[in-house]
Amino acid sequence: MCGIVGCVLKNKEVAPILFDSISKLEYRGYDSIGLATGHNNKINLKKDAGKVAEVDAKLDLKDLDGTYGIAHVRWATHGDPSKVNSHPHLNNDGTIAVVHNGIIENYLSIKKELESEGYDFVSDTDTEVIPNLIDKYMKTGLDLTQAVRKVINVIEGAYALAAISVSEPNRIVATRKDSPLIVGIGEEEYFIASDSPAILKYTNNIAYLEKDELVILDEDGVSFLDENDNLIGKDVEVIQWSPDMAEKEGFPHFMIKEINEQSTTIRNTLNEKDNVQFIVDEIKEDINKVLFVACGTSYHASLTGKYLIESLAEIQTEVLLASEFKYSASSLNEKTLVIFISQSGETADTLKALDIANKSSKTLAIVNVRGSSATRRADYTIYTQAGPEIGVAATKTYIGQLVAIYLLASLLGDNENLIEKLYDVPRYIEEVLAKEDIIKHFSNKFKKLSKVPKYIKPILSMPHAYKGLKNNFRHVEDMFFIGRGYSYSIALEGALKLKEISYIHAEAYAGGELKHGPIALIDDDVPVVVLAPPGRDHRKIMSNLEEVKARGASIIGIGAIGDEDLISKSDYNFLINSEVDELIAPLVYIVPLQLLSYYVSVARNLNPDKPKNLAKCVTVE
Ligand code: GLU
Repeated sequence: MCGIVGCVLKNKEVAPILFDSISKLEYRGYDSIGLATGHNNKINLKKDAGKVAEVDAKLDLKDLDGTYGIAHVRWATHGDPSKVNSHPHLNNDGTIAVVHNGIIENYLSIKKELESEGYDFVSDTDTEVIPNLIDKYMKTGLDLTQAVRKVINVIEGAYALAAISVSEPNRIVATRKDSPLIVGIGEEEYFIASDSPAILKYTNNIAYLEKDELVILDEDGVSFLDENDNLIGKDVEVIQWSPDMAEKEGFPHFMIKEINEQSTTIRNTLNEKDNVQFIVDEIKEDINKVLFVACGTSYHASLTGKYLIESLAEIQTEVLLASEFKYSASSLNEKTLVIFISQSGETADTLKALDIANKSSKTLAIVNVRGSSATRRADYTIYTQAGPEIGVAATKTYIGQLVAIYLLASLLGDNENLIEKLYDVPRYIEEVLAKEDIIKHFSNKFKKLSKVPKYIKPILSMPHAYKGLKNNFRHVEDMFFIGRGYSYSIALEGALKLKEISYIHAEAYAGGELKHGPIALIDDDVPVVVLAPPGRDHRKIMSNLEEVKARGASIIGIGAIGDEDLISKSDYNFLINSEVDELIAPLVYIVPLQLLSYYVSVARNLNPDKPKNLAKCVTVE
């Protein structure tokens, strides 16, 4: 959620580098972009609402004088996306600039107080109080660092922020609480950023800022202050992700590149086996309950975890949404293992829950981003080895999370057979990807007509002209996904992907649940995706297929090669290697559903990498 970058260089123009870095964070926020640099006792500012490329075409963002500066891509929380609300924000006399990620919860009372002291506000944001507060404190004789410290003693909420002032040229002061901020230490170039893809091109040396610490970037280096303003040393980690891992490498979108990287993610995450074995050896004797806590896609991975751990290791397992955790966490004790799953390791709801669980229970984080807050707060960490994920809709990190969970469940349950099977999964996924044209072709049926050919007009003017035609999905706005057992979580994740990037309303149900209500919505305008891998539940899901078919639904069957029953009863089907049984189905059957959501999004002329209203890393509650 929102990206910030800051950079101080020695005798080199900063704007081109700032612009390049902030562009890499567009996945975090993309309703506005802005840059501010300091030069000759003046702040140069360019900002506006719109996508990075649009605003750059209009304003030429790389053209700003100065050797130090800050930049921001916004995901609006307070005030609509507009030029005045874009960051950086300035103090009244334009000598201080600030970028901010998060929410200042008490901004209204601060704003009122500042207004009564004569400060004017031009935006609707919560952020604008920060440069004016800094201004107020600097006017009492404090330097920028002291003023920023004073500001964070006053503001409440979640933030990462960075400030520059013309009175202290070539300096950035930054701090964080609850929103991420990393520090990049290059050669005569120093950075702060919300996430590493912004700066990997310039440096792999990363230090992590803790809550309430300050970092001061000068042209000669970086210094860190702890929460009591003592100068401290920091470990610098050399991170192995390369800059091209965060590039599209010839694919039209990050999402399809990342879908294609999933077999590699599985192979790499299987390398965590020894680490998982170590964790299992440490905790196994001491736990009698597992609780997963997660949001969104990670929540779906957790549901698979519940089914796996309960059936393989016979340990009672529950799953909670992180945002609901505090309402029902009372039954935690020292015999509970609480597992937190988060791609970024910075999800605000998840971190809040982690802090609560740490008081009573053992905690384990399953996370993709090295060094992120969750990894530093949990007792144990398993990394999903997916590399940077830029597409907002999670794909390869979901697969990575599943592999981590499969390893954990298999080792808790001493099931070497299942681990053996996991090594075949990359091959099954590659087989699915080799047939992606089938899904691409099918997804084109969802394309909306942009220009109606003349001869079609009379028909189109009839209400619902295209509705009810089995081979035409142009009007589809609702879909169902059904599965049972392990496939139920795939249905949930498939429906979420479609909602996120194709804006089609999609519902997922456990096959057996349909007749308890939702079947009332099924008719010939509502296609149903049926997940029917081979195994114990196959006959039952086929009965559910019959139930919706009898109500007129078009059936999109996903099942095993050679499943004649499914083939004959589906209107469309996608077939997968029959060695993939229901136990490992979540790892493979999700791939055609990811492809479906991707290609439907493309067919409908949407941008799958940047779904409206969504941000990659949700750092507010
Ligand atoms: N609350 C600030 C705003 O709405 C920052 C939002 C963000 O994190 O992008 O401008």
